[in-house]
Amino acid sequence: LLSLDAATVRFGERAVLDAVGLDVAEHEVVCVLGPSGSGKSTLLRAVAGLQPLTGGRILLDGRDQSGVPAHKRGVGLMFQDHQLFPQRDVGANVAFGPRMRGVARRERDAEVGKLLELVGLPGAARRAVASLSGGEQQRVALARALAPRPRLLMLDEPLGQLDRSLRERLVVELRELFGRLGTTVLAVTHDQGEAFALADRVVVMRDGRIAQSGTPLEVWQRPADAFVARFLGFDN
Ligand code: ATP
Ligand code: MG
Repeated sequence: LLSLDAATVRFGERAVLDAVGLDVAEHEVVCVLGPSGSGKSTLLRAVAGLQPLTGGRILLDGRDQSGVPAHKRGVGLMFQDHQLFPQRDVGANVAFGPRMRGVARRERDAEVGKLLELVGLPGAARRAVASLSGGEQQRVALARALAPRPRLLMLDEPLGQLDRSLRERLVVELRELFGRLGTTVLAVTHDQGEAFALADRVVVMRDGRIAQSGTPLEVWQRPADAFVARFLGFDN
């Protein structure tokens, strides 16, 4: 579904993405791990069409995406700071997606209701976003990212601001949800437990490059190098 071919993003001298090669298959759930500043968000933004490449290519279904604007790529992105509109109700936030603006009111309401059920917030459409808990707001953000039914859903720290017990519960729910919808997912997290629980495959980034890519078990049992081992906490 998704292929990166030597994808590069430079800011001045510095390559924030440095000739990254990555393939994500249909229905695969891939989690990107790595230290702060290693290029994880930039990777997602580039695939979403929000960050132009300075080199290399991004292919979706084998088609080069250079020059294809974000709203035509058929990918969804849930941002690190989920960027809901606090003064609007939940329904308006979920229906915000570009694909839903042209849809008739009644159809849109039905779709919003279905999405809220999916994320475990049935009947919440008329509630004010500001009245929701942090975890509920993240679910709303997830429903909004799912609204255009993207073939590829990208999540940047989707559970970032939540406490551990809620994260652990949501990870299980997400895993189940993605399996049920058959959504292909590329998710960034800095929590390796989360990545290992959610992912079919884990990608570890370092300084704009992929240090290792493999199943959670492979990465856990055979870290590619000292950096990955240290990052996973195998200190010595
Ligand atoms: P975090 O875990 O903190 O979210 P990250 O892995 O998502 O980190 P990125 O946001 O991709 O990191 O940023 C990678 C590097 O690129 C950082 O050092 C950042 O300062 C730099 N960077 C990102 N955007 C720009 C920009 N527009 N101009 C210059 N540097 C940038
Ligand atoms: Mg980031």
